[in-house]
Amino acid sequence: MSPNMSNASSPKKRDDSDQDQFLTILSREDALARFEAALFPRATPAEERPLAEALGYPLALDIVADIDVPPFDRSNVDGFAVRSADLASASEATPFRLVLNDEIIPCGTAPTRPVLSGTATSIATGGPLPRGADAIVMVEHTQPTGGRAIEVRRAASPGQFVSYAGSDIARGEAVLRAGTVIGSREIGMCAACGIAKVSVVRQPRVAVVSTGDELVQPGQPLRPAAIYDTNGAIVSAAINENGGEAIFAGAIADDEAELEAAMRRALESSDMLVLSGGTSKGAGDVSHRIIARLGKPGIIAHGVALKPGKPLCLAVCDGKPVVILPGFPTSAMFTFHDMIVPVLRRMAGLPPRSDAKVTAKIPVRIASELGRTEFVMVSLVEGADGLIAYPSGKGSGAITSFAQADGFLKIDALADQMPAGAEAEVTLFTPHVRVPDLVIVGSHCTGLDLVTAPLARAGLVVRSIAVGSLGGLAAAKRGECDFAPIHLFDEKSETYNTRFLS
Ligand code: AMP
Ligand code: MG
Repeated sequence: MSPNMSNASSPKKRDDSDQDQFLTILSREDALARFEAALFPRATPAEERPLAEALGYPLALDIVADIDVPPFDRSNVDGFAVRSADLASASEATPFRLVLNDEIIPCGTAPTRPVLSGTATSIATGGPLPRGADAIVMVEHTQPTGGRAIEVRRAASPGQFVSYAGSDIARGEAVLRAGTVIGSREIGMCAACGIAKVSVVRQPRVAVVSTGDELVQPGQPLRPAAIYDTNGAIVSAAINENGGEAIFAGAIADDEAELEAAMRRALESSDMLVLSGGTSKGAGDVSHRIIARLGKPGIIAHGVALKPGKPLCLAVCDGKPVVILPGFPTSAMFTFHDMIVPVLRRMAGLPPRSDAKVTAKIPVRIASELGRTEFVMVSLVEGADGLIAYPSGKGSGAITSFAQADGFLKIDALADQMPAGAEAEVTLFTPHVRVPDLVIVGSHCTGLDLVTAPLARAGLVVRSIAVGSLGGLAAAKRGECDFAPIHLFDEKSETYNTRFLS
């Protein structure tokens, strides 16, 4: 182990064999605070993008209109441009006659004739107001009369149905502020001002490297004792979902020289490096040793009080964040979403992802280890008064638990449990809740899949949460599921289920 690793704080006594690889275990909060302090504030690189390719990017600079919008006084309705003073005494009883000027103003045509007293000019919605006119009379409120004239039966006020130049956006006005994330609305504002290019925060380029002799890329044949590289794909996708541009460099074997070369190459052409695997103590786990040689200040935290996710390693090498996620895909995802996404989004100029957090009630007590922030995968269902979060796949590390899970919750390091009925903040893996159409909570068997598969093919979102027969009964009682599959044996009557249904 490199002596450079102890820079975060003073070395701690080695305690058990499981922990002796880490000099200091930091709390989640400490680790994150030190990581952010080493990275921010920092300059955000900007780039010019054509408006059509700027969707989703945050603006790097304010956008200032250099024209008036609308650029000229224009009519809001189809009708006639008039002098309002002419119509001061017009009414149903005393209609006023206006002679039509020899001109019609459609959209996009500049008027050539003034509106003199006693005259009116036919004008379309969006047409520029002719000189002399100060109001528009709607066509519905007029009547043609003989000799190219109209009769008006109501008074007009100055400015009626006219949009004045600059009334929407005034020239010189800051219409959008730096930091605003560009959506269709913002694109519309820019287009209205004639702006075709905008300065946006350049997406951080994030190099992704998987490590391990055992890893094979999807699509390749699996060697004996090998597994498919899951982290490369899932981490790259999560980076792209959070404002980064992932550059996947493949899986590198646990060879120090080879890995160091790959890491240096990756860092050269990127703003951030995310590795996975090779951070726990094991034969050939070398990446953290390499980091210490890559740049200052080096490792900020290696070993964080997380469960799962303890081997997380956070470093900054010459201003660039370098992260080693734990190897297990679920651990990698918890730590990535909880600790790396906030940093990535800040680098990308994006606000924290508020749309990816929901509050939900916990139906069952969840025990937790004291001293470590615990991540628990949850599935959401709609309860009578709000969302309910069922713990799922706890501790299994199985990638399939992702398929059913909506997100995860955190149990504080200082808590030894989350009591039933508690409200928890759930971080969503994708920023929308898929509330299921059919919820099945209870005992699970493969036969259930035969029933739910055709329903899913028919377009229903079916969620099956395995909590055992008794858990299913309790969920049914609380009204949290549509079905509770059970197989409970009653010794007295030697029958299944019937007695429990009361
Ligand atoms: P490590 O931290 O390298 O010891 O990895 C811990 C566990 O995660 C091992 O079982 C690895 O095989 C597994 N693992 C590491 N990287 C990946 C990956 N990219 N995809 C899937 N599993 C991985
Ligand atoms: Mg490994």
